[in-house]
Amino acid sequence: MKSIWNVNVKEYPSLKEDKYFDILIIGGGITGISICYYLKECKYKIGLIEQNKLFSSTTLNSSAKLTYLQKDILSKISKNRNIDIALEYLNSQIDAINNIKNIIKKEKIDCDLDKNDSFLFTLNKKNKNKISEEYKLYKKFNINAVKIIKLPDNMKVSSGFKVPDTYVFHPLKYCNSLLKLVDKNISIYENTRFIKYIKYSNYYKVITNNNNYIKCKYLIFANSYPNFLFPYLFPIKTYIEKDNVICEKSKNLYFNAINIDDNLLSIRYYKNYIIKVVNSNKLNVKSVNDNINKNYIYKFNNYDIITYDYMPFIGKIDRNIYIASGYNTWGMTNSNIAAKTISDLILFNDSIYKKLFDPYRKIKIINFLNLCSNMFQSLFSFLSSHLCKRDYATIKYINGKKYGIYIDKNKKRLK
Ligand SMILES: Cc1cc2nc3c(=O)[nH]c(=O)nc-3n(C[C@H](O)[C@H](O)[C@H](O)COP(=O)(O)OP(=O)(O)OC[C@H]3O[C@@H](n4cnc5c(N)ncnc54)[C@H](O)[C@@H]3O)c2cc1C
Repeated sequence: MKSIWNVNVKEYPSLKEDKYFDILIIGGGITGISICYYLKECKYKIGLIEQNKLFSSTTLNSSAKLTYLQKDILSKISKNRNIDIALEYLNSQIDAINNIKNIIKKEKIDCDLDKNDSFLFTLNKKNKNKISEEYKLYKKFNINAVKIIKLPDNMKVSSGFKVPDTYVFHPLKYCNSLLKLVDKNISIYENTRFIKYIKYSNYYKVITNNNNYIKCKYLIFANSYPNFLFPYLFPIKTYIEKDNVICEKSKNLYFNAINIDDNLLSIRYYKNYIIKVVNSNKLNVKSVNDNINKNYIYKFNNYDIITYDYMPFIGKIDRNIYIASGYNTWGMTNSNIAAKTISDLILFNDSIYKKLFDPYRKIKIINFLNLCSNMFQSLFSFLSSHLCKRDYATIKYINGKKYGIYIDKNKKRLK
């Protein structure tokens, strides 16, 4: 299982002594490194800890589209919140694309940025109305959406449309370039895992797996799924989605596409490859059988956090604690918004997105019921995989190191 995005990333030592930083960032993915970028010239002393290697988690396994066309997210946000919030969300994603383009231009970053149209489609007649609803919202919001009957690779669709001014890029080349820009200003430690924090009157004390501690004034959780923050937010308002990413040789076509059908199909191209994301399912079922039998050139799984109103949680959750999570599989854009928002909140005590992505926003009763149903399914799946004879895979930390564990039907364990 190898990602297509591997590049040589500088290695950093693990933490071997106690430290003080004004700002401590937990997590070295695209969110963590983007926060470092926005804070790199401030007066604060900044540290970042990563439990594994930098950019080795979700960011490494992304399909890396920079697009505001995110399935039927505008219709979903309109229904869950309201139409004004859907427009604000759309604008935030367009801002993120522009911010990233500006960074790439300003810093002369070579990350294979390609402009192409984004297509939304369905192969199922039953979903035509959903496509039409989403299309109307883009039109209402003055986006030049155009109806289509087939994709540029000639695949016929039941219904669909395309929007302009979206991009694809190489996420590791982008992150690695940001890393080089912040390297001198930020202290980075790999193989250093956040275990817990203790709150004091004017600082936090973070305990790491190496039994060292870090004192800090500000603490930022950029680690994708800060489940230890329970009972603050997680996993109360979220679930995890697992997708499979597969790559095949192909000629390069300059478009990206995603459907809204039960069988997910997301497509983008990179050089001589087509990258597809398929078989999306909630992480309730731990089976390792992904029903993908073909020998693809690259094949990997990826996980992301889905929230119950389809909007990320970005912002302050305690006196000086911030989180960035719940990107609903659209973290290439949302990580930029998170980094900008959190750095603005720390430096200027304000951000234009403070209210929109407030982690303490209320959830509706209907979402709460969905949440209960998901928790029930998770519990059922957990019990059935542990009590019945079934194979399953999981990730475990043994002596501070991350291992993939496969347990077969006879409970034989393979590391
Ligand atoms: C299949 C798939 C395709 C996707 N495609 C797209 C796309 O086309 N466009 C798009 O916008 N988004 C896409 N996404 C989403 C996007 O890739 C992610 O949202 C984004 O990479 C998340 O970045 P991150 O930095 O927040 O998290 P991560 O990359 O997961 O980084 C978090 C880091 O925190 C570290 N960490 C965790 N816990 C600790 C701890 N206790 N102590 C220290 N470190 C810790 C982890 O090791 C990890 O390195 C996709 C997601 C999936 C699942």
